[in-house]
Amino acid sequence: MATVVVGAAVVRDGCLLVQQRAFPVEVAGRWELPGGRVEPGESDVDAVRRECVEELGVDVVVGGRVGADVPLPNGMVLRVYSATLRETGAEPRAVEHRALRWVSAAEVSELDWLPADRALVPALLALV
Ligand code: C5P
Repeated sequence: MATVVVGAAVVRDGCLLVQQRAFPVEVAGRWELPGGRVEPGESDVDAVRRECVEELGVDVVVGGRVGADVPLPNGMVLRVYSATLRETGAEPRAVEHRALRWVSAAEVSELDWLPADRALVPALLALV
């Protein structure tokens, strides 16, 4: 089975949280969902929570799958789950990324997404 990279589609007040990559240089400036590789022995849900703590500094409540698995060029697959902030007052911050934004439906379509994340735009639009 392919290694899974989980992504989090965090939605608040009808907007989706997106983050802008700072590195590597080939993808710096492009936008993606928070997320990363599922570690051995870790569940997808636990990986989504861990990545949100590492990348955003917030805990999330993980919901259902969003869209289908998207193949990544390195042989892994990107698998996205919906999520909400566990604490209503919590404010995500860009720990490893250049910037964070909460975007509406129009902006979800317009963003300069990483290719795998772009494949999920139709499914993401159903959330905002
Ligand atoms: O963060 P990590 O290095 O574990 O991510 C593994 C791979 O998944 C990277 O190639 C990264 O670009 C890709 N990825 C992606 N979209 C995301 C998160 C990660 O294409 N939302």
